[in-house]
Amino acid sequence: MNKLLDMLIDLSKRPLFIPFYHAVSDTVAPHYKNLYQPRGEVEFERDLDCFLRHFEPLSLDDFARVKNNPGKGRYCLITFDDGLSEVYEYAFPVLQRKKVPAVVFLNPRFVDNRGLFYRYKVSILIEELRARSFEGYSDWMQETGGDFETAEKNLLSLGYGQTGKIDHIAQLMGVSFANYLQSEQPYLTMPRVREMKGAGIQFGGHSMDHPFFADLGLKAQLQQANESMDWVCEKVGETIRAFAFPFSDEGVKKTFFEQLNADFTFGTAKIKVDDAKNHYQRLSMEVDNKSAGQILLREFTNYQLKRLFGRHRIKR
Ligand SMILES: [Zn+2]
Repeated sequence: MNKLLDMLIDLSKRPLFIPFYHAVSDTVAPHYKNLYQPRGEVEFERDLDCFLRHFEPLSLDDFARVKNNPGKGRYCLITFDDGLSEVYEYAFPVLQRKKVPAVVFLNPRFVDNRGLFYRYKVSILIEELRARSFEGYSDWMQETGGDFETAEKNLLSLGYGQTGKIDHIAQLMGVSFANYLQSEQPYLTMPRVREMKGAGIQFGGHSMDHPFFADLGLKAQLQQANESMDWVCEKVGETIRAFAFPFSDEGVKKTFFEQLNADFTFGTAKIKVDDAKNHYQRLSMEVDNKSAGQILLREFTNYQLKRLFGRHRIKR
């Protein structure tokens, strides 16, 4: 399988492979339980072993150097979105032991547990809903749709612009996100960020508070992205301005990329070529329980098939 994958990667002419994760953990926390399935600690280490068999791992600095001229090399950049504390607790020790660099994309408004991503709020509410299924109807049930199934679906459909509604439902349910942030400490703290930075982990911006970019106007998109990178450069001391789109870059126009003050940006559309300059797509490793080798084999094969139909490129 290793030789076949090497061959597929070379054939694809995609020498820069960029996987992304959120958390790495054997236990699944309520705030992401209903959104994605994190890799366990052993699985994550196996993923790394697989990447190291096929690619040379890059730091963000190396990536800046190599990206336009990879030559005959094959490289990977390991990335984490949302700045979760599990990255420090479980991924960081493995990365250090294996001497593998990585990049963590932060939402400045959530660092130090000062705020909570609205989708994480929704996931917590769904967990509460399940735990209380015996309670029957009440105000918050009315508000979320009347029955449990509808309530769950309705909660998941709430967007960034409905954060007020999410907070209102939480209030009706007697759920305090402030208490959750305090007791669970889901995000990285600044001392941890600094410690990781000192050990070679680098950081980028992931917007200020994780909106879906297609829902925003150009001005708000630029502000969200630029401010998060300004913050990372100022507070963490990065000199490279890197940005990873929250959710995805779907529907984001060329003008955004032209006007953004960034060295490079990252999307979440799997293995693809992108029309936007200095914009690189990434592959989620949290999609199923397959091994990294199986996921890569499938995705590089898919990429080859898409090429046949000219569907490997994102046009802007
Ligand atoms: Zn994110």
